[in-house]
Amino acid sequence: MPMSDLQSSILRKKPMSEIREVISLTEALQIVEQKLAGITLSVETIPVRQALFRTIVENQIARLDLPPFNKSAMDGYAVPAGNEQEEYHVLETIPAGGIPSRPLTAGTATKVMTGAPVPDGTGKVIMVEQTCETNGKVRILTHSNEVNICRKGEDVCAGDVILHAPAVLGPLEIASLISVGITEVKVAQPVRIAILSTGDEIVDLPNQLVPGKIINSNGPMLASLCQKYSLEVVVNAIVTDDRNTTISALCEALNNANIVVLSGGVSVGDYDFVTDAMEQVGLQLHFNRLAVKPGKPTTFASSGKKIAFGLPGNPVAVYLMFHLFVLYTARLMTGKKLIVRHVTLPLADDFHRRRAKRLAYLPCRLMQNGLIEQTEYHGTAHLQALLDSDGFFIIPKGVKDISAGEKVSYISIKDSFE
Ligand code: AMP
Ligand code: MG
Repeated sequence: MPMSDLQSSILRKKPMSEIREVISLTEALQIVEQKLAGITLSVETIPVRQALFRTIVENQIARLDLPPFNKSAMDGYAVPAGNEQEEYHVLETIPAGGIPSRPLTAGTATKVMTGAPVPDGTGKVIMVEQTCETNGKVRILTHSNEVNICRKGEDVCAGDVILHAPAVLGPLEIASLISVGITEVKVAQPVRIAILSTGDEIVDLPNQLVPGKIINSNGPMLASLCQKYSLEVVVNAIVTDDRNTTISALCEALNNANIVVLSGGVSVGDYDFVTDAMEQVGLQLHFNRLAVKPGKPTTFASSGKKIAFGLPGNPVAVYLMFHLFVLYTARLMTGKKLIVRHVTLPLADDFHRRRAKRLAYLPCRLMQNGLIEQTEYHGTAHLQALLDSDGFFIIPKGVKDISAGEKVSYISIKDSFE
C-alpha cells in the first residue's frame, strides 16, 4: 500500500467510543422521555385545512351546534306532534338547503327531503315509503313511533370541547373541526429533521453504481416517513465514512434541525464514526446498545435541545426504529406521547428461534382468518419483505418457542402509530 493511502487509512480508523450496557426498549424510551422533558416547540396559527398531522396546542371549542337545526333524517312527510291522522293536507316541499315557510298545524304536513329543516310544530317525519300523495293530500299507510328527526345540537353544542390538546390532527379531526365552524388552529411548529445517511458504499442514483456500491434507500425512506407524519426535512444528505466529514456534517445538521437522524456507522466497525462524532460535537451519549432485534446499535445522544439518533444502516431496522424512536421523540416535542397500537393475535405456525437475548420484531402477514403468518425474511437488509407484510409480530426477550395458535403481540406496519 502506498504511504499516502496507508496514512489516510490510519486517519480513517476511529478511536474506540464508549460502548454502553445493553438496555431494553422500555428503558430506552424512558431515557428519551427524561431527556426531552421541558423541550417544546414554538407555536403558529394555520388554516385547519393545512393542519394534517400537526399537533394542536389548545383545546378546540365548537363554534356551532351540530346539527345546526332540527333536521329530517329521511325523505318523507313532517307531521304535527300529537296529531296522528290517516291523511294530511300537504303545505309545501322543502329540499335540503331550503327553509320551511309555514309551521305545521293540525291536519297539515310538509314534504321534507333528507337534510332539510323540519317546520316548527313537527312531531315526526314519516318516511316516504309509508305514504301515498295525490292531489295535495298525503295518505299515511302506517304510522310508526320512529321520529326520524336529528335534533339541533344533539351531536355537538356550540361551546363543547371537541378536541383536547395536545392532539394530532388526522382527516377525521380536520373534518370535525371544520364542521363546527373552526377554520384556524394554533399548532406546534413542525419538528425539523436532518437526515444523514452514512456510508462510503451508498450512492443516490443507479448510474453511480460501480462495484461495491449500493443505492441509498434509507435517506428517501426517512424523508418519506417525515413527510407522512408532517415533520419538516431540513437536510437529507449522504455522509462518507470519514471521521472529520461526519463531525462537520453532524455539527451543521444540529444547528439546523430539532432532531438529527443518522443511518449507518453506529456499530463497532473500523469505519463507523457516528458515536465518536456525537461525542466530538459535544453531545452526551445516553445509550447505544438495545436488546431489540432489529435495532441493536440504535444510539441516542443529546445536549440540551440538540438531539441525535444514530440508527443502524440496514433499512428494516431504520424503518422500525424511525417509528419507535424518531417519531416518538418528535411527538414528545409537541407534547403528545406516541401511541403504538398493539393487538394480540394467534400465530398460524410453530415459531422457534435459537437465541432469545433480544425482543424481536418479525415481519408477518395478517391472514383473512385472523392468524399471523411469518413472511419470508432474509434479515434486516431485506426491505422488500415488508412489502409482502402487514405488520410485525413481537417475540419477548427470553422466549424461544411459540406454538401455533398461541397469541403474540402484533403491530401494523403502516398504521399502528398514532
Ligand atoms: P452499517 O450500519 O453502516 O454497518 O450498515 C449496515 C448495512 O446497511 C450495510 O450493509 C450497509 O451497506 C447498509 N446501509 C447503510 N446505509 C444504507 C442506506 N442509506 N441505504 C441502504 N442500505 C444502507
Ligand atoms: Mg456503514
